[in-house]
Order: sequence, then structure tokens, then C-alpha cells
Amino acid sequence: MDLEHTAIMRLQEAAKLSEFYYQKPLLLTYSGGKDSEVCLELCRRAGVPFEVIHNHTTADAPETVYHVRKVFRKLELEGVKCEILHPLYKGHLTSMWALIIKEMYPPTRKVRYCCRYLKERTISRCCAVLGVRRSESPKRAASGVAEKRSSRKQDRQTFDFDNGDKRIIASCLMKATIKIHPIVEWTDRDVWQFLTDVKANINPCYSMGFTRVGCVGCPMASKTRYLEFQQWPKFENLYRRAFARMLEERKARGKPCQWKTADEVFRWWMQDKNLDGQLDIFGGEVGADGL
Ligand code: SF4
Repeated sequence: MDLEHTAIMRLQEAAKLSEFYYQKPLLLTYSGGKDSEVCLELCRRAGVPFEVIHNHTTADAPETVYHVRKVFRKLELEGVKCEILHPLYKGHLTSMWALIIKEMYPPTRKVRYCCRYLKERTISRCCAVLGVRRSESPKRAASGVAEKRSSRKQDRQTFDFDNGDKRIIASCLMKATIKIHPIVEWTDRDVWQFLTDVKANINPCYSMGFTRVGCVGCPMASKTRYLEFQQWPKFENLYRRAFARMLEERKARGKPCQWKTADEVFRWWMQDKNLDGQLDIFGGEVGADGL
């Protein structure tokens, strides 16, 4: 059975669960990246009812913002409900730059508080479709086709969805959020092959030489951030300004700090030497959220 057919069957099965237990269509989380582009096309091909959301992170490249708007306009003409969600912090609109000041430290690989506020807040009590793939990272290597979402690691559950694992029903009855990963075993090559075959209109960032689409300056992008800031220099200024105000905030609150200037923070942050030193630098106050 080919990958596309398997993914479509997963979506059709998930749509039945969603309709029966949640009385809702599937909810596709669309980032504007290649994996969510594949999932979108697969939802269309599966002929299932679905809605689409996009989390506006405030740090997306302008090309991504325009691409998402364009895709959503087209989907709405097709009758698909789409929503762009703006990030909230304690009920108020926020942004990457405001979060840095409020949290009083830069987002790092280990402490990705930004994801919690900018990307993950919206999925609750539904069957959500995500373009998660095992080959993306070691952390995702153990991802299942279907999972019960939980903020507590020990409460997360993976289901053998392809073989009719009935344990998923208990989670559906509890209206837990079920994450469906229809392309979990796809490789990069499979993704690109599919997008080429279906002549998908993809995010222009890929044709600019970027292999990932996400927040500009994301600490997970490592050295690619140098290229990102070359391409979108305004974002470097935004981070630098936020770091300057973050230092003022730390000072005003009497927090320990080893940096004197925003430039020092920026260089430390870009050098990506923040993996092990985080706790020392901030006097042990960072990392308790388990991200
Ligand atoms: S910068 Fe990276 S870690 Fe932070 S919200 Fe964006 S994608 Fe997530």
C-alpha cells in the first residue's frame, strides 16, 4: 500500500472518530511549511470534513505570512473554514518580542517558552491533524500515527491506529485531544516527491534556499539563523531591541544577570552555547517548565 493511500485511510478513520465523539470536523494545524502543505492536500483528497487553523507567531517570515493568507483565501472559496490565531499571554495579545521581556530570558533550544504561547495554545478537545514526521528529529522518532495529547509527559499515550487500537476510544470519550500524524513515516524525499507530483503551491521561502519554515531566529534552526537574519535583517533588530528591554526588566526586578548589553546577549544567543549554561546564567530559575 503506498504512502498516500495509507495517509488518506488514516485521515478518513480519524474523521469518523472526530465526527462521532467530538461532533466536529478534523482540525488541521497549518504552519505554512511543507509538511502541513502535504497534510492539507491529503485532507482534500481524503474527502473528509476539516477546518484549518494557523498560529501567527509574530516571528514568521513575511513570505510565510503572505503564503498562509493566500492559501486560506483559496480554502475559504472552497468552503473550508480557516482561522488565523494570534498569540495570547495571560489573555492578552502578545508577540515574540513581548514574551522575551516578560519571561526575562531569550528563547533557547532547551527553554522554548515561545512555542507554548505562540504555537501550541489552540489544540484542545478535538482530533487535530499535524504534519509530524519521525525523521524530523530524534525527539519525534518515537511519534505514533495517533497520540493522546497531554502537557504531562507521563499522560501522553500512543495508539496503534493502523491496526485498530481500541484504547483510543477511552480518550475520545474523555474528549482528550487526539493528535493524528498521517505522514509520520514519510521522509523528506517522500514529502518533496508528493508536493512535486501534485504541483503544490509551496511557501516561497523554500525557493529562497531555506529547508525549514518557521520563526525567523528560532533557536532550533541553529546556524541557519545567520542566513535568516541576512535575508530578514529587521528581525535581528527586533530581537536586539527585545534583549535590551529584557536586560532593563531584569535590572528593575533585581534579577542576576551576566550581560551588560543587548549585543552580548545576542552574540551569546547566536553562538548557541546556551545548552548547558542556562541554569548557571540565570541563577537556576530557568527550565522548570520541562519544555
Ligand atoms: S522560535 Fe522556534 S521554539 Fe520559538 S515559537 Fe518559534 S518555532 Fe517554536
